[in-house]
Amino acid sequence: MTIFCNRTLNLRAIGAVGYDLDYTLVHYRVESWERRAYEHLRTALAGSGWPVEALEFDPRRMIRGLVLDLELGNVVKADRFGYVKRACHGTRFLEFEEQRRVYARTLVDLSEPRWVFLNTLFSLSEAWMFAQLVDVLDRRALPGVLGYADLYRRVKAELDEAHMAGRLKAEIVADPDRFVELDPDLPPALLDQREAGKKLLLVTNSDWPYTAAMMEYAFDRFLPRGMHWRELFELILVAARKPDFFARDLPLFEVVEPEGLLRPAPGGIARPGLWHGGHAAQVERYLGLSGEQILYVGDHVWGDVTVSKSVLRWRTCLVLRELEGELAAIEGARELEGRLSAMMREKERREREISRVRLRLQRCKRGYGGPERESIPELERELGRLRAELTALDERIAPLAQATTELSNPHWGLLLRAGNDKSHLARQLERSADIYTSRVSNFLHHTPFAYLRASRGSLPHDPVGGPPPDPFPADAPGTTAPGPAPPAVRPRSTAGTGSPGRGRRGSPARERG
Ligand SMILES: [Mg+2]
Repeated sequence: MTIFCNRTLNLRAIGAVGYDLDYTLVHYRVESWERRAYEHLRTALAGSGWPVEALEFDPRRMIRGLVLDLELGNVVKADRFGYVKRACHGTRFLEFEEQRRVYARTLVDLSEPRWVFLNTLFSLSEAWMFAQLVDVLDRRALPGVLGYADLYRRVKAELDEAHMAGRLKAEIVADPDRFVELDPDLPPALLDQREAGKKLLLVTNSDWPYTAAMMEYAFDRFLPRGMHWRELFELILVAARKPDFFARDLPLFEVVEPEGLLRPAPGGIARPGLWHGGHAAQVERYLGLSGEQILYVGDHVWGDVTVSKSVLRWRTCLVLRELEGELAAIEGARELEGRLSAMMREKERREREISRVRLRLQRCKRGYGGPERESIPELERELGRLRAELTALDERIAPLAQATTELSNPHWGLLLRAGNDKSHLARQLERSADIYTSRVSNFLHHTPFAYLRASRGSLPHDPVGGPPPDPFPADAPGTTAPGPAPPAVRPRSTAGTGSPGRGRRGSPARERG
């Protein structure tokens, strides 16, 4: 798996690399974690007398990048312009016409409190609980709840309480084998960066005992004998309160070990090691680096990459673990996409033909447009025939088009696509993340010296047919460690580029029938 590049990034010019912890340096088994989070939430809500005992977690029903509509009690997927492309009210999906009617004049605008964006994999349990409770609220079975926004606020508060009270995290620490997905390539990737002269930072909202337990579990076994994970990092900042960490002047504390006591540090960061709270400006001052010299790597779309980019202009990398499943789904659907593209080209050809015959008929009926007179009944017959053919073609296209909207997830489709366009998540990814990848260990295969170049980008008026530039051309050195070479994954080719599969690696798409 490779690193994808929105904005060219020369890793040689990066002096420090900051990392988030949860779902960045430590990856969790999403279903196990979210199921436990959901169960804690359900217990807490049942304790408040809510009728939730029969509710069950379903890991397939929510994906990152969806948006909660607190005004209508809906969950929606929007495209990059904010148009809603799919929606459910509570757990019921809206039919196309209903959805169009409800959202005809509404664009998703995340600056409005009406919308809640699912920024991270941690959001899946709360979103599914919210959707299920919308159904309960509609049945008037939640006395005292004042609408969908109030419902969400209560669900969120209970979940935060479960997280903050540490019950969930205590379970993870007690049984990490069950919850944590180990990655043996990750510690060597960071070791390479440190040995290449980069200062490494760990900036996490988690507390110190949890951070220490998780990092020791995930890192020490894969580091050279006798090396401890803390040696990788110049600075470790826990309880960092991102995204405020990037934007506000928050108090800094020194962690006095081994007791773990906190001592105020009004003078800022004075030495390498372990700190509590603080803010990004103090990190910049300590390192003598700023803006484009620092790369921050995290999984939270808003808290990790959007704010650090918009406030500090740090370089940013979003970790999007779902990408691996998505690319596999896209690869598996090549033949389907090929057939669909061929049919769409045929549909466009027939639509053009119909338009031309309609115009000839119009001119004939109105008596203008040239000396030669055509037979009106003949033109009408031809038009009827062409329209019938188009209808038949549409019937063949519909199931294929439907199948492409169900790739990766049967309810919501691909994370970064919405309909035939980019999703709202894809838009944020383009705007805020200079690079993105499915896991931090992919840096191992690119080395700390890679020059990651963005492809030229495409515009509707660009010529089609030529292969896009390789995002990782020859200057990106080979791997430093054994392992499979990262596959070159190219953007999907545009319809009309000739025979399906041309210009792609691997076997060409097969035409069926
Ligand atoms: Mg995280």
